[in-house]
Amino acid sequence: MHILEDFKSFLDHSPTSFHAAEQLAERLAVQDFQPLDEKEAWHLEKGKRYFVMRGGSLCAFSLPAIGLEKATIIGSHTDSPSLKIKPLPEITNHNMTLVGVEVYGSPLLSSWLNRDLAIAGRVVVGDAQDRVEEKLVLLDDAPLTIPQLAIHLDRDVNEKGLVLNKQEHLVPLAGLHKEKPGNSPYLESLLKRHIQFKTLYSFDLFLAPLEVARFLGSDGELLASCRLDNLASAHACVTAMGIAAGTAAGPGSESHKTSLSMAMFWDHEEIGSRTTDGAASPFLHDVLRRIGRVYSLDEETFSQLKANALFVSVDAAHAFNPNYKQKYEPHHLPLLGHGIVLKYNADQKYASTAPTAARIAQAAKNLNLSYQSYVTRSDLTCGSTVGPVVAYQMGIPTVDIGIPLLSMHSIREIIACHDHLDMCTLLTGLLKG
Ligand code: ZN
Repeated sequence: MHILEDFKSFLDHSPTSFHAAEQLAERLAVQDFQPLDEKEAWHLEKGKRYFVMRGGSLCAFSLPAIGLEKATIIGSHTDSPSLKIKPLPEITNHNMTLVGVEVYGSPLLSSWLNRDLAIAGRVVVGDAQDRVEEKLVLLDDAPLTIPQLAIHLDRDVNEKGLVLNKQEHLVPLAGLHKEKPGNSPYLESLLKRHIQFKTLYSFDLFLAPLEVARFLGSDGELLASCRLDNLASAHACVTAMGIAAGTAAGPGSESHKTSLSMAMFWDHEEIGSRTTDGAASPFLHDVLRRIGRVYSLDEETFSQLKANALFVSVDAAHAFNPNYKQKYEPHHLPLLGHGIVLKYNADQKYASTAPTAARIAQAAKNLNLSYQSYVTRSDLTCGSTVGPVVAYQMGIPTVDIGIPLLSMHSIREIIACHDHLDMCTLLTGLLKG
C-alpha cells in the first residue's frame, strides 16, 4: 500500500492511544517483528526484530547481528488532547441524557463543539464466569455532540471570544431519555451492542470525532485529520522501522552488525509523561537493559552504549499560519510543504543541541531533503516534547524534529503530505545509519 494511503487508514483506525498501539503492532507483525510480553521471560536472538506493548505505549526494536555498540532510537507519542469519560458518566437533565467528561491534556476546546463524536478506548469487564478481560471498543453507532450556545443567546461571542467552562459547557448530549423498565444504564447498554460481558468494572474511554481523514488542497497536497499530533510522527516511525528492517539495514550490512534500531511510541505525553506507560517511566530503560543482557553488557559497556546512542524525538511543529503572522519568529517560519523542522529552544524545552542537530542536518543533506529551523518568538513560551524527558532521564544525546502542522491541538489538524513522506525518508535513513 502507498505510504499516504496506509497513513490515512492508520489515522482512521486510531481513535485512542490504545487503538494506535494496536495499529502499530499490526504493522510491525507483518514486517516480522515478534511480539513480547513484559511479564514473561524474553529469549531474544541477535539479528531478530521484536516489539512489546505497555498499555497505549509500544517499543519496537531490531537487534544487531553481532555486538551492541550503538543505538538509534526514534520516539513519538500515541496520545492526543481529548475529552475523557468520567467514572460515573450518566447525567439526566429534563428529557436528555448527557455524559460527564474531563479534559485530557490541552485541547482547543471550541473545536470539540458541534461535532459528531464516538466513544472509544479500553474497558475492563467480567465475563459470565467473572473472568476479567480488557477490551478495546469503538462505539461509533450512537454519536454524541456538544451543542454550542446559539448566537442569539450569546450576542457578543464573535467580538469578545468564546469562553468555555470545562465543567458547565462541555457536557456532551448523548440522546433523549427513554424511561423503560429494566433499562440498563446508558454506557452499559451501548457497550453491550459491541461486546459481551456480565460486569463492567472500569474503563478508560474518550470521545473521538467520527469525521475521517481527508486530503485537502487543489492537488490533495494537504491532509486533515484528528490526532495528527502525534500520529503523523508515530506513523513515520513505524514506516521507517519496517523499511529499514526490510532493506539495506538488513542482515549483512555494516550498521546491522553492531547498531540497535529502536522506535518508542509513548502514551501520556499530553499530560506530562509521568505515568507507568509515559516517556518519564522506566519503559525504555527496562527494555534496553533486557536487550543488553543478550550482548552481555555490564555497567561499563551499558554506559558506553548510551553515550553512543542518538534519541530522535519526533513531534509536530507549529506551521506558519498566514492569518496570525505576528505570532511567529519572522526568521524561523516553518512552512507547510517545505520539509522537516529542526526545533530549538534556549531553555531546552526542545532537546536539540548543536552536535545532535548536526546529525539531522547531515542526514538530510545526504538524503537530499530540505529542512527548516524553528524557534518560538522570544516573547512567547514554548511547548515541549518527549525529547527533554528522555534527555534528562537517560542522558542520551537527543534532538527534536517534526513536520509543520496547523491548528495544533484542535480536533482537526492539517499537515502537508510531502512533509510526511520526507519524515519517513529521513527516519529510514537514520535507522540505516
Ligand atoms: Zn505532540
